[in-house]
Amino acid sequence: MVVDVDLEPISLDGEIFTKPVIMAGPCSAETEEQVLNTAIPLAKMGIKIFRAGIWKPRTRPNAFEGVGSVGLQWLQTVKKETGMMVSIEVANVKHVYEALKYGVDILWIGARTSANPFAVQDIADSLRGVNIPVMVKNPINPDVDLWIGAIERINNSGIKQMAAIHRGFSSYDKTLYRNVPQWQVPIELRRRIPEMPIITDPSHICGNREFLYDISQKAMDLNFDGLLIDRQILVNEPHPAFLSDSDSQSRFSHGVHRRA
Ligand code: PEP
Ligand code: MN
Repeated sequence: MVVDVDLEPISLDGEIFTKPVIMAGPCSAETEEQVLNTAIPLAKMGIKIFRAGIWKPRTRPNAFEGVGSVGLQWLQTVKKETGMMVSIEVANVKHVYEALKYGVDILWIGARTSANPFAVQDIADSLRGVNIPVMVKNPINPDVDLWIGAIERINNSGIKQMAAIHRGFSSYDKTLYRNVPQWQVPIELRRRIPEMPIITDPSHICGNREFLYDISQKAMDLNFDGLLIDRQILVNEPHPAFLSDSDSQSRFSHGVHRRA
């Protein structure tokens, strides 16, 4: 059964989201310097949309949980200095208000949040009457209906510019990936909502840098619409451990694009 959602193409500053759209940036915003030094080479590579985590959903307490709202000022600097558009994860109503206040261009709903219909509905309600593109990551479990339900909740609140992000699915078994791609799930989503752009997030599928290229290529072979990539500036050699997802972020070393 095809799902009835009311979509229009994502248009940012009048520019249509053209395929393949590449969004990249650090897993977490950590300092203003790190954010800007990552954004500048990305902008030079022609990447137009910057990503950064401001509030991080961590599995266990006492891990780095993001810098919070101060990072939104750094993203404003990225916009001013590079002309890039900026995107962040929102997981609750406060995040939405803060993101809108600081002029964030695109929001996404993370995998843990899209598994929770109450949380998604609260976010959807807070977006009523707002015109901003929203991307919805797949829930952590491979449940295409739950993913579609989250998309419908946001769409029903009047958000028409949307994309789905495929970031793989958690498993108790040890596998090559941190989150198993289970390509049949996004393919089924495309069958059910043919007009929905699908962006693959190889970084959160892989959990390391080894398979980033293979997963990205596979997404392109499937004619998906783009990629969302954790990418980080390498400030010093030997590299510091980044505060989140240190092993999966592809890296710039001394400003050079290196195969990680
Ligand atoms: C992220 O993209 O920063 C993130 C936390 O990803 P996910 O929700 O896919 O785990
Ligand atoms: Mn990450």
